[in-house]
Amino acid sequence: MAQQTILQKLEILADAAKYDASCASSGTAKKNSLGGKGIGSTEGMGICHAYAPDGRCISLFKILLTNHCVFDCHYCVNRKSSNVARARFTPQEVVDLTLAFYRRNYIEGLFLSSGIVKNSNHTMEQIVEVARILREEHDFRGYIHLKTIPEADAEIVHQAGLYADRVSINVELPTDSGLTRLAPDKDARQIEGAMGKVKADLAEAKDAHKRFKHAPRFAPAGQSTQMIVGADAATDADIVGKASRLYDNFRLRRVYYSAFSPIPDASAVLPLKRPPLIREHRLYQSDWLMRFYGYKPAEVMQATEADGNLPLDIDPKLAWALKFREQFPVDVNRSTKEQLLRVPGLGVKAVGKILASRRHRALRLDDVALLTQSITKVRPFICTVDWRPVMLTDRADLRSLLAPKAEQLELFAA
Ligand code: SF4
Repeated sequence: MAQQTILQKLEILADAAKYDASCASSGTAKKNSLGGKGIGSTEGMGICHAYAPDGRCISLFKILLTNHCVFDCHYCVNRKSSNVARARFTPQEVVDLTLAFYRRNYIEGLFLSSGIVKNSNHTMEQIVEVARILREEHDFRGYIHLKTIPEADAEIVHQAGLYADRVSINVELPTDSGLTRLAPDKDARQIEGAMGKVKADLAEAKDAHKRFKHAPRFAPAGQSTQMIVGADAATDADIVGKASRLYDNFRLRRVYYSAFSPIPDASAVLPLKRPPLIREHRLYQSDWLMRFYGYKPAEVMQATEADGNLPLDIDPKLAWALKFREQFPVDVNRSTKEQLLRVPGLGVKAVGKILASRRHRALRLDDVALLTQSITKVRPFICTVDWRPVMLTDRADLRSLLAPKAEQLELFAA
């Protein structure tokens, strides 16, 4: 076989990496500028964005070390039985590309994952070697996110954490049965065991840092994971339950949700269609409710419909409020922060501003309107000095009044 050029490898391995969502942001309309039409792709490959520990949004060079793999996960385009073009970088090639892109200011860091070649330990060693060369030989200070392989020895995964800012281990599927069926080479207990070990390493490093200023740092941006949505029969309630257990058990910084996308030559056990992208978005919103709005997982689950899935036409916070109308209206001038955070249409910042302003004067509906995108959505759930919703909160057709209007499809949309 003819030797592949670096550019050919780059095309294959950047494209193969795009299915991993663990560094992506959600909720963006997917647009692309490929073919020279406009600028600003959000669905191309090669670069993704992540938030650094200090809150900055940074561009990462997102690449696989190789898309060869000895595993055969049904949902993965790189699985052993998949008929795709294969390529493999050496660690030095990834280092050279990272440095070249960094010096040109294209990127501020690296997101590195890999298929499994030979065996898990060998692959993990190669991933660690990339980070080692960057840090030790080039004094690279940029952000590094390493995807780690749960089947690899804990010591090698530990090495990854010593060089990386963030490490992640994908749980892949929301249920153990889904994992057994769709990723027969993987083992849920092994995955969670590896996450538990990273959690212990993180705690140990933090503790050491308190005692010794120069103690080695270990993945200061913590660990994250990714779950594929829509490849098995798991409901949103299952997914929310799993995410919440992962946050509790492993102190994850983030759980990423990735809507399953049909792949070429897909296995017959997979669904033919991808789930609607809005489902992924609703799961991110539910994740937000648990992390920033004080909802317990069981409460988010209460927002699901009879089939166990979150409604697609309205966000989970509104769905919950419509089900528990007896909790509303809340008085903007008197209610607690926790109560205000339950009001559909009021975000964390808006609630902070309400709490600060009401110390000085009683708030009117117009004051609240300045803090929200849609006062129509907020009105049924609050009262102010000049507004009470009276019967509005209990109207049977409130959901249809508040659901965003369906957008007309573009006639010639792809
Ligand atoms: S281990 Fe599974 S998910 Fe990862 S690259 Fe191989 S086939 Fe794909």
